[in-house]
Amino acid sequence: MEKKVTKIGVLTSGGDSPGMNACVRAVVRTALYHGLEVYGIMRGYSGMVEDEIIKMESRSVANIIQRGGTILKTSRCKEFFEYEGRKKAYENLKKHDIDGLVIIGGDGSFKGAQLFSNEFDIPCIGLAGTIDKDIAGTDFTIGFDTAVNTAVEAIDKIRDTADAHDRLFVIEVMGRDAGYIALHSGISTGAENILIPECKTVMEEIITQLAEKERRKKLVNLIVVAEGDEFGGANEVAKFIKEKLPHQEVRVCILGHIQRGGSPSCIDRVIASRMGYHAVECLMEGKHNVFVGIVNNKMSYIPLDEAVKKKQRISEEWMKIVKILAS
Ligand code: ADP
Repeated sequence: MEKKVTKIGVLTSGGDSPGMNACVRAVVRTALYHGLEVYGIMRGYSGMVEDEIIKMESRSVANIIQRGGTILKTSRCKEFFEYEGRKKAYENLKKHDIDGLVIIGGDGSFKGAQLFSNEFDIPCIGLAGTIDKDIAGTDFTIGFDTAVNTAVEAIDKIRDTADAHDRLFVIEVMGRDAGYIALHSGISTGAENILIPECKTVMEEIITQLAEKERRKKLVNLIVVAEGDEFGGANEVAKFIKEKLPHQEVRVCILGHIQRGGSPSCIDRVIASRMGYHAVECLMEGKHNVFVGIVNNKMSYIPLDEAVKKKQRISEEWMKIVKILAS
């Protein structure tokens, strides 16, 4: 028989993403609805290690659903990589009698959670809060929709100026290991090329295409590149093009951190609310150490270690769509 969870801790960890606040709100309010106590752990695992743990009431999460960032703050915590750090974190949780955790973060945070719950028998529920959408087991991650819409808005603006001057723009979007932001923002802005870590980038092919377009006087071209593409970021791509096609007018734009901030989109608020609600239900029903996602519009539950191991794949068909639509 699983032990009944009575006091829940909630934290946001790793890279921040818009919608984390909506998720914290859902966890807090659902826990309170069920008569559980709920604690906010500040700055990810750092707050667990350093005992920055605060009791949350319904009003603690008032007026935050529309705010980007995270009221609990987030961080990367070195101590949590070491057993001693995790032990300290456990002792702090015990001090507050916290017997269940909801972790909103990326795959690094889930690796930490998996280790922690194996060592100290604290059930952990993982919710994907990441703009990169690089986690298997869910169709949505909290923050992706907002981030990709921010990128789309920016790229649309860049296309206006590219068009006015007949220029080639190389635009870098976030995604160290995953090309989802590049793929979605590129398709929805009609980018001529999209470079992502999941597919091999053959720059010579792109140069041939550009030279052919130059011949046809199609001079406005947008290349969207994920920061983690194996060829390098936007600067490397632009440098290579300038070397091969010296008379091309090439400009670079790196969108950077604006993609993380801002008010979450409706989709991100809704999925964050659903995931937060179901995370608490999971802890109450004894579904421990699971990753809660949404697949085909239904809640999906997979073991946390599976979510950590698997990556989302981008099928070849996506790249075919890019090629056909941008020709
Ligand atoms: P994200 O969760 O966004 O992928 P990180 O990879 O930076 O972000 O992970 C967030 C935090 O999770 C790390 O700073 C660390 O405290 C913890 N963590 C990540 N990987 C591990 C691991 N292998 N063992 C223990 N803790 C980890």
